[in-house]
Amino acid sequence: MQNISSTIHNQPNAPKSVGLFLCHKSARKRASAVGPEGYEMRQDGKSDKSLKRYYEIINKKFYFGELPSNVIVRWAEPGEEPDIASTDWAKNKRHSYVILLNREKVPTRSIKLSSLLHETIHVVTQKNDDHGEVFSEWHQKLMDRGAFKKGALIRGITLF
Ligand SMILES: [Zn+2]
Repeated sequence: MQNISSTIHNQPNAPKSVGLFLCHKSARKRASAVGPEGYEMRQDGKSDKSLKRYYEIINKKFYFGELPSNVIVRWAEPGEEPDIASTDWAKNKRHSYVILLNREKVPTRSIKLSSLLHETIHVVTQKNDDHGEVFSEWHQKLMDRGAFKKGALIRGITLF
């Protein structure tokens, strides 16, 4: 069976750096505090149980609990997310970040988890490093900690 990673990397001029294609530089800013918190909670939405569980597993296994737990991780509503995924500050005060994954652009479990790993780096860098050096250092750290080893998150699957 062909390794998924070799399939994904089999693009001639693919950039060396991970996931530059995952989410572009976000122009979205923390929304100004308008309206009651209930309204903002609704805007941020609720975590998808399965995605949040993977977030927690990633946090435990590869960040040793360093990621904040008050992060919303969910699928984007149709039209809400143009890229594969994104990380933004939460609008409500109870949560820190909202990670969105775009179902249309996440056809496999492998892409889902690679994207989620990518977005967790935006969380740990507090959105301060848009795929720059600090981002790469974290990517390397996750690599060293085994996140991209075969079977690290899904049995038999190597993430890229
Ligand atoms: Zn990104």
